[in-house]
Amino acid sequence: MEHIMSGLPVAAALLQKASEEAAKLKEKGITPKLALLRVGESPEDLRYERNLIKKAAQIGAETEVHVLPENASEDDMRAAIWQMDEDHGVHGIMVFRPLPAGINEEAICQEINPEKDVDGATESSLAGVFMQHERGFAPCTARAVMEMLDYYGVELSGKKVTVIGRSLVVGRPLACMLLAKNATVTIAHSKTADLAAEARSADILISATGMPKMVDQSYIREGQIVVDVGVAFDPQSGKLCGDVDFEEVEALASSITPVKGGVGAVTTAVLMTQVVEAAIRLNRKPSWTD
Ligand code: NAP
Repeated sequence: MEHIMSGLPVAAALLQKASEEAAKLKEKGITPKLALLRVGESPEDLRYERNLIKKAAQIGAETEVHVLPENASEDDMRAAIWQMDEDHGVHGIMVFRPLPAGINEEAICQEINPEKDVDGATESSLAGVFMQHERGFAPCTARAVMEMLDYYGVELSGKKVTVIGRSLVVGRPLACMLLAKNATVTIAHSKTADLAAEARSADILISATGMPKMVDQSYIREGQIVVDVGVAFDPQSGKLCGDVDFEEVEALASSITPVKGGVGAVTTAVLMTQVVEAAIRLNRKPSWTD
């Protein structure tokens, strides 16, 4: 196994497979389409949007962007989501998050049809992950970690995995997915007693906290596999970093993911994969083309 587990070849393999599946759909007259709902003009959303449009074009999928003003009401957002849902040409719906302050984001996300919930934002999608049903889609980052481990041939069955972080977008769904692969999973968080000891006890350590360079040598046992999901800025240098102090930990770990070109690079490829999967699933339904 590679010492540095880059996300770039993983993303490339996923995009290649997605474009092959999209080409097969095109032979049947179907072009996978992702509809995006953006509220306001935040630079982060705009950057992500440009990236998604580029990646979709790369696999032969279409995108359409619905933009609402920063002061849009929850009813405006619901109406936009319903419109995307009613459009049979749209297979995936993604709402840029976080939504502006004062908006009940959780409630808005539940308006997305789980069959088109390619970002894994609805309760139904999370239930699908929990129950191992083909219902909705996994949150993209959680699946991105699983895709990385799979690509690099990391055996999970019988292995002890510690996941630091219990959010609904990363830690919790990821823990369920690891469990489904027969790993023995510990979910650690900000109230975990002796976090470093929990981290050291694992064969595979996955950190998803957003705490810059929190995972230092004291968290690591020689030979561990370390996956860094975190994206943060080093308060000292101001540079991009992860949860893991890469320089310190790399020497001890058997394999480790980088921050740049790591899990984040795989996340958008997973989203594209899920758009194509949604198009395949929806077009299996007899009522879809009525
Ligand atoms: P989040 O909702 O803020 O959750 C953070 C989790 O980390 C919480 O469960 C929290 O514990 C735990 N935590 C915080 N400080 C901790 C500490 N000192 N010790 C132990 N646990 C601690 O964040 P998120 O949305 O899951 O994202 C986590 C990180 O992943 C962020 O850096 C985010 O930018 C990154 N991310 C990356 C991608 C990607 O594509 N690479 C995608 C999504 C997110 P409590 O529950 O106890 O508060």
